[in-house]
Amino acid sequence: LVYSNNRIISRERLSTKSFPKRDQLLKKVNEIISNILQDKRLQRKDVLGIGVGLPGPVDFKKGLVHFLPNISGWKNFPIKIRFRSIAKLPIFADNDVNLVALAEQRLGAGKKSHNMICMTLGTGVGGAVIIDKNLYRGSSFSAGEIGHIPITENGPACNCGGRGCLESFVGNKYILKKAKARFKNHKITLEKISLLAKAGDFKARNFWREVGQHIGIALVGVINLLNPDKVVIGGGIARAGAILFDEIRKTVRLRAMPTQARAVKIVKAKLGDDAGILGASILVKENKL
Ligand SMILES: [Zn+2]
Repeated sequence: LVYSNNRIISRERLSTKSFPKRDQLLKKVNEIISNILQDKRLQRKDVLGIGVGLPGPVDFKKGLVHFLPNISGWKNFPIKIRFRSIAKLPIFADNDVNLVALAEQRLGAGKKSHNMICMTLGTGVGGAVIIDKNLYRGSSFSAGEIGHIPITENGPACNCGGRGCLESFVGNKYILKKAKARFKNHKITLEKISLLAKAGDFKARNFWREVGQHIGIALVGVINLLNPDKVVIGGGIARAGAILFDEIRKTVRLRAMPTQARAVKIVKAKLGDDAGILGASILVKENKL
């Protein structure tokens, strides 16, 4: 529950794994909404709407989930109609990284930015594009897939059907596999490598430098194409900190066209886990009024 002044009042967390059927999940969420409203002495008529962020391409206008790459059973799901019939409230649905971008641009690291790229680093590598302060969704609402920009001509096959995608070089699974081989340690974690890097360990610093170079190369293409004033990077491995960001910035400085490279600032996301929640509420507010 978010108040109109962007204060998060109440939150609950559920695992989609516990709800293999979509309607079960929506009914459970609706139950939680009822409990929160009761707890805050509010009624449904006090609520402007429900914002939903989903990990996959979503037709924002129709309220239709095209599919979710990591959750089965959501292909061509009309979430707007179905959730509305359960919750009896207006529903606004969009891709989750679009919502993160919206929140970071309005309230976080992208404040005052007009043209912004948002990137989230996790199991998947997500992206979103803001042009003239508005989300750019593309012709079929799938723009911004930075993780699926090819960074080499003949790289490994990717889930998306492409080859050599950025995600298959810097997605969590890939870099963890590389880390285990590189450090000859099956128990090593990315957090541990971050700590080692901060303590000055040469191997660990090199490890993050390589990750930063891959990200930087993909960003060079994006920056040359769109000439943004800001790139905001969030998600788990963004916590690797200065070593990673320095390398990304260096790669962009060396390889992007000078005019575009000078115009852009590459910064860490500010809102963390709150970004998705705040973005969902901004989506409702800005489209309801
Ligand atoms: Zn791909």
